Amino acid sequence: MDCIFCQIVAGSIPCTKIYEDEMVLAFLDIAPVSAGHTLVIPKEHCDEVHNCSEKYFEALTSVLPKIALAVSDAVSADGYNVLCNNGRAAGQLVEHLHFHIIPRMAGDGVFSHWPAGKYPPGKADEVAKKIRKSL
Ligand code: AMP
Ligand code: ZN
Repeated sequence: MDCIFCQIVAGSIPCTKIYEDEMVLAFLDIAPVSAGHTLVIPKEHCDEVHNCSEKYFEALTSVLPKIALAVSDAVSADGYNVLCNNGRAAGQLVEHLHFHIIPRMAGDGVFSHWPAGKYPPGKADEVAKKIRKSL
């Protein structure tokens, strides 16, 4: 078992636990973007959103809102990001599905660069058609 988050679930690597039930674990990120930065993970190993079993994904998403609110309230945040990196290209370093809850303060400058683009005429429809076809 070389997955660091599976080892946290098994208790062989320590974590600062926030929440636990039969299927879900939440703990503080060891390198926080802001105080309270929390990771929420399924206890069953999978690497990305689309590989997670429905049962575990439902369990995780059903408790995510209350964990997010508790994190946000605890640090008196003005807002929070729920972030899930899927794949190396998207910035995923730990290949066990996890949702970041990152408390945000007004004007904190975190993620200040959002590289928003614009579709040329016809491109949005073309992309949407491809997505609908692969659903
Ligand atoms: P990602 O880039 O989405 O894969 O993020 C992985 C996150 O896991 C990073 O924010 C790390 O700081 C965090 N992390 C890695 N190892 C540990 C650990 N042992 N305990 C808590 N958080 C960790
Ligand atoms: Zn794992």
